Amino acid sequence: MEFDLIARIQRRARQRGDVVTGIGDDAAVLRPGDGRELVVTTDVLNEGVHFLAAHPPADIGWKALAVNLSDLAAMGAAPAWCTLALTLPGPDAAWCDAMLDGFFALADTHDIALVGGDTTRGPLALGVTAIGQIEPARVLRRAGAMPGDDIWVSGTLGDAAAALALAPVAGGDAPDAFLRERLQRPTPRVALGRALAGVARAGIDLSDGLLADLGHICKASGVGARVMLDELPASPPLVAAAGGRHERWNWQVAGGDDYELCVTAPPGARERILSAAGAAGVPVTRIGVSTDPAPAGPAVRLVDSGGESWVPDRSGYQHFA
Ligand code: ADP
Ligand code: MG
Repeated sequence: MEFDLIARIQRRARQRGDVVTGIGDDAAVLRPGDGRELVVTTDVLNEGVHFLAAHPPADIGWKALAVNLSDLAAMGAAPAWCTLALTLPGPDAAWCDAMLDGFFALADTHDIALVGGDTTRGPLALGVTAIGQIEPARVLRRAGAMPGDDIWVSGTLGDAAAALALAPVAGGDAPDAFLRERLQRPTPRVALGRALAGVARAGIDLSDGLLADLGHICKASGVGARVMLDELPASPPLVAAAGGRHERWNWQVAGGDDYELCVTAPPGARERILSAAGAAGVPVTRIGVSTDPAPAGPAVRLVDSGGESWVPDRSGYQHFA
């Protein structure tokens, strides 16, 4: 059965010219482009932690790849290849096919070849390793932000967190289709990451919530940050779903699962940031500034329009908290 499943997967995996050996041998052989560096990332989605078995399998397949592409985008890399480690409770070919519909829909959009993986029995989990390429001088790291930099985010924040919070407790779907899509089928900002590479100074993708993830930039760069809560980009469905601004801000700064990019850049780069966003077709919003490192207290200060500091109910998603 394992080999039947692998054969099903292999039939649907498309090739790229730089895949010397793909699925079917002991390992894949890949040919990176001249003068480029490889960027490698792995993320695992576990049933019950990252998704519910009741979710559409196509969404689960999509998201397993999307979260990895988001990491490559945050480095500024162009995705090229991936592997898929599939753990299944049983040899459910129909579930596997449906999952692959979502997985390959996203892979094909970005011309990514599935070049290997593993198929084993156990509690449902999908582990994806994604590999991309980048010109060495353009790598976008967490370190590199300077005091005085603008802080930018893409898209809107808090949608996925709202969908999760509003989903019926017994499983099932959040009421609003847009918010649900943002949770179950996030769009990795691949073109934007490419366009910002070489323009922004530091970057990260928002998977655990703005407060936690911007905190990683602050720590790696040795800076602080001041974020204007009223500037956080909010979708109309999010505003409609929130009971008030505090609930909205909680979702936007500490909810997680946004898969938007957060970058810093000097004020002199504003035009270039905006034209990168225009070229990628993704809006970006300036939400604050990086500062000298805070001598005490949190690295990231959240302030309302009156200049008052505000602290969310919780600080972000942590698996072992
Ligand atoms: P081995 O025992 O040498 O690891 P496997 O039987 O596990 O070989 O895998 C055979 C081939 O199928 C390998 O090329 C492997 O990368 C690929 N493969 C296995 N599972 C998957 C999967 N879920 N997705 C993509 N390729 C897979
Ligand atoms: Mg194997």
